Amino acid sequence: MSTSDRFQTDDLDTPRLEAWRCEMHQRHGPRVTIHFTNNRRSMVSLRRLPGHGAVLRIQKGFETAPGAILEDLSLLLSRQNPAAWSRVCAFAKTLPASGPPLKAGANERVNTCGKIYDLQPLLEEINREFFDSALPTRITWGQKKPSRRGRRRSRSLQFGSWDESLDLIRIHPALDDPRVPRDFLRYLIHHELCHAASPPVPTPGGPRKIHHADFKALEARFPNRTRMEAIGKRLFNQITRERG
Ligand SMILES: [Zn+2]
Repeated sequence: MSTSDRFQTDDLDTPRLEAWRCEMHQRHGPRVTIHFTNNRRSMVSLRRLPGHGAVLRIQKGFETAPGAILEDLSLLLSRQNPAAWSRVCAFAKTLPASGPPLKAGANERVNTCGKIYDLQPLLEEINREFFDSALPTRITWGQKKPSRRGRRRSRSLQFGSWDESLDLIRIHPALDDPRVPRDFLRYLIHHELCHAASPPVPTPGGPRKIHHADFKALEARFPNRTRMEAIGKRLFNQITRERG
């Protein structure tokens, strides 16, 4: 059975690339992450990470790439190969510059500057330290929801999320608070950037796996995670208590 037969890809707009990515993960292991973009300027980029890892970003137009080009990309994931690289670049030049239509909301206003923290320099710092500045992901403070009197507030609180369709990280506005350590925000942003670098993968007949082995290998590079998790629990209790 070929790899591509094992994954349900019907609901994806790039079924061939999704199947190919799964195959690459099996072939190259968790050190390699592949990301499909709607980028209209950069069709392909490959950054080597410390420790022989690599982040490959290719535009979704590669869905139509000949098998030989995908094989060239596989070659490049394991070692440098100037001939393969020039073939890949030649193919990338044939793609229409417009690319696939951007998803609705791609121009969503982002607000990085809070009262206490500006998220933009934090994002750039983490992107540089851990991802060789390879990720074009954006960030914003989430919107404050008006409090609804008389309605019981749930004890659920999502500190951060990564919106795959917009390649946008949202951080909960309650964390724009002097009691929140800067390092905890770095930790959160790092977690969400790992999602951008290593997106969910399809599983046979099931929901996509989000915190998969690839993701965990990337996330493990952040120092003092146990301490960060403890801070997260403390903040969670504090904030949910204060919100009543
Ligand atoms: Zn996560």
